[in-house]
Formats: sequence, structure tokens, C-alpha cells
Amino acid sequence: MLRKIGYFGLAVVVMVSALSGCRRQATTSEGKLKVVATTTIVGDVVRQIGGDAIELTVLLPVGSDPHAFSPAPRDVAAISAAEVVFINGAGLEEFLTELLENAGKQVETVDLSEGLTLLEFADAAHEDESHEGEHEDTHEGEHHHDMDPHVWISPRNVQRWVPAIEQTLSRLDAANAKKYQANAAAYQSELTTLDAWIVEQIAQIPETRRVLVTDHQLFGYFAAHYGLEQLGAVVPGYSTLAQPSAQELAALEDAIRAYNVPAILVGNTVNPALAQRLAEDTGVQLVFIYTGSLTAADGDAPTYLAYMRYNVNAIVTALK
Ligand SMILES: [Zn+2]
Repeated sequence: MLRKIGYFGLAVVVMVSALSGCRRQATTSEGKLKVVATTTIVGDVVRQIGGDAIELTVLLPVGSDPHAFSPAPRDVAAISAAEVVFINGAGLEEFLTELLENAGKQVETVDLSEGLTLLEFADAAHEDESHEGEHEDTHEGEHHHDMDPHVWISPRNVQRWVPAIEQTLSRLDAANAKKYQANAAAYQSELTTLDAWIVEQIAQIPETRRVLVTDHQLFGYFAAHYGLEQLGAVVPGYSTLAQPSAQELAALEDAIRAYNVPAILVGNTVNPALAQRLAEDTGVQLVFIYTGSLTAADGDAPTYLAYMRYNVNAIVTALK
């Protein structure tokens, strides 16, 4: 897959150079800071702060799985034209290094996971023989898949994104700094309201039922911050790309029965077939949530705030 990107990357760099003349004219006539965000969720938070003062391109299409994204030529072009790229970080964007190389220029990248307390993958069952040895001498930055990249699933992490985004935009576009600061302050207070609302909602779930079983392990930060237990996942890992073994599925079914788990939560960016089978086998309800992507503007979760409210409502309804 990587080789394929590298191959068309060459052609794209030539194409981008040819287009850059008219592209630059558009920049000066509009006068807007050109910003790229990787996921729809990073994109929404950047949009809340940048407002109409920035020209924002979001790389991942609505409904796509961030673990399985393959950049297209238009993504290389967007990076080439950008003055700054905001990324989720924590190893989520596995496509990024190659994409930045193909863009053929140095572009400032802001890693929104920097400074957050990242969770490490702690599920021993996930460590197969081939990984046991290399896990011993893991160095920071080399084994991204050992970190939980789903930092956005807790608004307490997203609250930390806000000043990073505001300060970057204000530095690159000082003329609009006041606007960015005002937007950031307003959005921060919405996130504070969301956080308090989640605490109230979770309090409605009896303590023994505060257990999460999901399609892959993406609720680590949410569980840690709001007092739930992430009991297990259909795909026992941080990426949707892994395949569970028959033993892992059987163990999860046992755990679901042992803990009387009321529901299995399945996301909008994966094939739900396995989760469906598990729900049928255990007689447990299958509940739909939004995971790796927001929805289009006319959907249930077009913004991060709507996404979190939708998911928390679905979880509380299923578990209480
Ligand atoms: Zn994920």
C-alpha cells in the first residue's frame, strides 16, 4: 500500500507544481490562512476556532475509518498548499509520513496528542508470539500501535487541543488573533458544559453496569475519565484492522456473560458483521454509535459536540 502511494506521489508533485501558480493567487485574493486537518473530528474542532477566517481542508472523508485511510492525489495537493496541518497524533495517522514526503515541502504539523497523558495498550491477550520479544525494548515513537490513539473520545483531552489550535492560528495569522481567542474561549466553555453533562449522564448508570464492549478498543480515555470499565472489544486492539482469533471471541463472549454486559457498541466506520454475530450468540443488544468519523451536516453527529452527545445518550440508554 505504501509503495503505491509513493508511486503516484511522484506524479502528483509534478501536478501540484504546475497548479501552484493559480493556487497562490487564490490565497492572496482570499487572504485566508490555508489549514489542513486530518480527521473529521480534528477538522470540526479546528473549524470551531478558525471560523470563517481560515480556509480548511479535511483529509478524511465523512464516514471513513481513520485506521484504514489511503491518501489520494488531492490530499497531497492539499498538504502542498497548506501553511499548517493539524493531526490527531498518537499514531492514528499511519499514512502521514509518506503523505508529507510526497507533498514535497516542509509544512508545519501540529500534533494534538502532544502533552496529553497517553494510555498504553494493556491487553495481554493481544500480545502474540511475534510481538513479545520486540515489546521489551519498545522506544518512544517507534511502536505507535502500542498507544491508544483515540484521544478525542474524552472531551477532557479535546479541551487541551483548544489552546494549541488557538495559539497556532494566532501566531500564523496575527491579524485574526482576537477572533481566534474569542472563538476558543466560547468553544472551551461548550466543552466544559459537555463534560459536566457527561458526568451527570454516567451517574444514571448503576455502577455494576458501567462496562463497555465495543467493536475495537476506542473508549479507553472516556472510561478512564468518567469511571467506566472498557471490558473488551470484538477486535481486541486499538485499530479496526486487526482480526480476532476464535479463542479471543470465545473469551469475550464469556466475559460478556460473566459481567452481564447489557450491550455491544458498534461504530459507523467498521463492518458490523462480527459484532452482530457476537450479539446474537450472547443475546445482548447491539447499539450503534459514531466512532472514527463525524456525519455529514444533515446527520446525527455533524460536529464533535453532537457526536459526543449522541454517543453518550446511546450508551446511557443501553446501560442504565
Ligand atoms: Zn479506532
